[in-house]
Amino acid sequence: MRLAIAAAFLFAFTAHAVDAGPALRGYTPEHSATETSWEHKYQALPESDHIRENMRRLSARPHHVGSPYDKDNAEWLLAQLKSFGLDAQIEQFTTLFPTPKSRLVELEGPEPFKAKLQEPPVPGDPTSDQQSEQLPTYNAYSRDGDVTAPLVYVNYGRTEDYEVLERMGISVKGAIVIARYGMSWRGIKPKVAAEHGAVGCLIYSDPRDDGYYAGDVYPKGPMRPEDGAQRGSVMDMPLYPGDPQTPGMGAVPGVKLIPLDQVQTITKIPVLPISYADATPLLKSLGGETVPEAWRGALPFTYHVGPSAAKVHLALAFNWDRKPLYDVIVRIPGAKYPDEWMIRGNHHDAWVNGAEDPISGTSAELEEARSLGQLLQQGWKPERTIIYCFWDGEEPALLGSTEWGEAHADELRAHAVAYFNTDSNDRGYFYAAGSHSLENFVNNVTKDIQDPETKMPVWKRAKLVQISQAPSQERGEIRSRADLRIPALGSGSDFTVFLDHLGIASLDFGYGGEDEAGQYHSIYDDFAWYTKFEDTNFAYGRALAQTAGTMVMRMADADLLPFQFSDLADTVHLYLTQLKTLAQQKRDEAKERDREVAEGVYKALYDPKKTMVPPPEEAIPPYLNFAPLEQASDDLTEAAKAFDKAYAAADGAAPAGLNPELIRSERLLTTAQGLPGRPWFQHLLYAPGLYTGYDVKTIPGVREAIEQKQWTLADQQIGIVSAALEHEAELLRQATRTLPATPAE
Ligand SMILES: [Zn+2]
Repeated sequence: MRLAIAAAFLFAFTAHAVDAGPALRGYTPEHSATETSWEHKYQALPESDHIRENMRRLSARPHHVGSPYDKDNAEWLLAQLKSFGLDAQIEQFTTLFPTPKSRLVELEGPEPFKAKLQEPPVPGDPTSDQQSEQLPTYNAYSRDGDVTAPLVYVNYGRTEDYEVLERMGISVKGAIVIARYGMSWRGIKPKVAAEHGAVGCLIYSDPRDDGYYAGDVYPKGPMRPEDGAQRGSVMDMPLYPGDPQTPGMGAVPGVKLIPLDQVQTITKIPVLPISYADATPLLKSLGGETVPEAWRGALPFTYHVGPSAAKVHLALAFNWDRKPLYDVIVRIPGAKYPDEWMIRGNHHDAWVNGAEDPISGTSAELEEARSLGQLLQQGWKPERTIIYCFWDGEEPALLGSTEWGEAHADELRAHAVAYFNTDSNDRGYFYAAGSHSLENFVNNVTKDIQDPETKMPVWKRAKLVQISQAPSQERGEIRSRADLRIPALGSGSDFTVFLDHLGIASLDFGYGGEDEAGQYHSIYDDFAWYTKFEDTNFAYGRALAQTAGTMVMRMADADLLPFQFSDLADTVHLYLTQLKTLAQQKRDEAKERDREVAEGVYKALYDPKKTMVPPPEEAIPPYLNFAPLEQASDDLTEAAKAFDKAYAAADGAAPAGLNPELIRSERLLTTAQGLPGRPWFQHLLYAPGLYTGYDVKTIPGVREAIEQKQWTLADQQIGIVSAALEHEAELLRQATRTLPATPAE
C-alpha cells in the first residue's frame, strides 16, 4: 500500500526530475526519484498562518527558565506534537539559574543619580505591560557584589581596548568599568575587566549600535528605545556551557554538584546591563582625555575615558536557585537504520516574551514537525531515526541542550549522524554555518528551496548577495567555486554540545538580513513588534520549515550518507594558510615595534599635555614548524578527492558498514583530552574563542597558542591536530577501498 502511494507521488510530482537532472547525492537513481517526490510533497505542507498562531501562543507571556509559562509552553508543545501523531515526551533536568534579588546603580558626588533599571510598557503593545512576570534587566551568572569606585570607559571592553588605555596611562585597577555592547560577546567584557583589576562592570546599549543612530526606535521603528536594556548571560561559556555545577554530566537527580564557591564559570566581578538613558549621567561624569575617534558612540556629548571624580555604587544580589528545565523530545523511529540518528533542534525558552528570539524559529520547527507528522500518515517512512528537540534554558547558558547532550553522551557518540540547529529567523537571505563535511550537503538542499520574495532558489539568492557584499578579490572565488563556503561555528546556540563536545557534524542556519532589529533580549521582542517590523506574513517562517524539514529528510533517507570531504580538505588548507600568515604577522609586528622603540618613534610622539606610555619591548616570536600540518592537509586533500570520486561512481549503492564509518568521520576531528585549559571543548577544528565568546577560532589549539604567544604549546597542538587529520585521511582511504573501484586517471 505504502509503495503504491509512493509510486503515485513519483509519477505525479517528479516525473520530470527523473530525466531532468542527476540523482540526489547519496541516493540510487530509483530512490532519488521517490525521495524527491516525498520532499516535494513535504514542501507543500508548512503553512504561514500556523506559524503565526504558534508564535502568538508561545510568546503570549514571559517564559524564561523557571517561570510558569515556560512549563506551560513545554506542555503545550508536547500536546501539539502528540496531536500530530508523534511520539513525544518531556525530559526534565534541574540546573543553577540565578535571578535578581536586588539591583542598584547610583552615582555619588555633587550631582547624584540613581539608575531606573526598568523598561517601561509601550502603548499599543499589549504584552509589554506584563511587568510582574518579566525578568528584570540583568546578566545571568554575574556574581553578587557591592562595590563603590570611580568609573572608567573601556569602549567595547576587548583586550585591545585595554591596550589603548595602557598607552594612555589609564588603569582600571580598583575601578568600575563601563563598556558598550557589541564587537565581542557580552560575557567577555566582565572577564577581561576582572583580569585587568576592575571591581565592577556595567554594559550599556549605545544608540549608535542598535538605537536611534541606526533607525527609528520602538514603537515608531524597530530599534531600541532609550530605556531598553539587553539581558543576557555572562557565564564564561568558552570554558564550558550548561549547568555550572555539573560540567560534563547531565543534571539529573542524584548527580554530584560542584559547590557554588568552586564554580569557574561565574563572573569574578559583579556586572549589570543598563539602558542608554541610565548610562547618560554616568558617561557625562567621566573626566580625563577625550576618547579616540573609534570609541565614540552616538550620545549627544563628548565621550571621555575617565576616571570619574564622583564614585559609582553598584550593588547586586541574586537568588542562587536550581530551576527545572523542560526539553520536549520527539522520536520518529527509522525503518531501515534505527540506530542512526538525525537530530534537529531549536530552543523554546526566552528572556522575556521572545517573539523573535527564539519563537520565530520554534514556531517554524513546530510546523515542520506537524508537516512531517502528515507525511508519516501518508505513508512516508524515514530510513533513519529522527529526533526533534525543543530545548529549554538556551538563553542562560545553553542549559537544555547541554544537559541532554551530556546525559546521553555515550549513545549520541555511537548513533548521531548530524545535528541541525535553528534559532531566531527573519526575512531575507539564507545563511548556514557549521561542519565542512556538510558544506556540499547544505548547498545541494538549498538549490531546491524557493525564495518567497524573488522566486529564485534560496541558494542562488544567497550566492548573488554574497557577490554583492564581497570585497573584489573574493568575488572570483564565489562565482567559480561549486559550493558556497560556509563559515565555521563558534558558540551562541544549542549546536555547541553536539559539535564541540561530542564531535557530531552540525549545521546552524536560517534567514535574515533584510530588516533592522534593536529589540534583542528586551521586553519589546514580542508578537506586536515582530508582526509589525519583521517577517510580517511569515513567508520566511514557512521557508525555514521547508528548508529544515527537507534537510532532515534528505539526511535521514540517504542510502549513502551525503558527507563530502573535498570541501572539508579545502577548508583545512585555508585555515592552515591563515595560521601561517598569523605567525608571520606576529613576528613582523614584534620586529616593527622593537625597531620603532629603538628609532625613538615614541620619544618623537611625546606630547607634554597628554599621557603616552610606550609599549613594552617583547621577544621576537620563533618560527613554528608547520610541516606536520602541511603534510596532513595534503594527505587529507588526496584522500578526500579519491573518496568523493569513488562515492560519485557508486551511484548511491552503500557497501555494508560504510555509513557507520562516515558517521565516525567528525568524531575523529576531536580529542578526548580537549583543548588547552578547557577539556570540555574537544573539536580540533572549531571552538568559540576564549576571548571572543560566540566568535569561532578555527584550529583553536594552534591559533590561540599563537595569539597568546605560547610557542611550545603551539608546536604541541600542531602535532595533535596533524595526527587527527592523518586519521581522518586514513578513514577516507579505507572507505574508498570499500566502494567499487574507479578507473585510474
Ligand atoms: Zn535564541
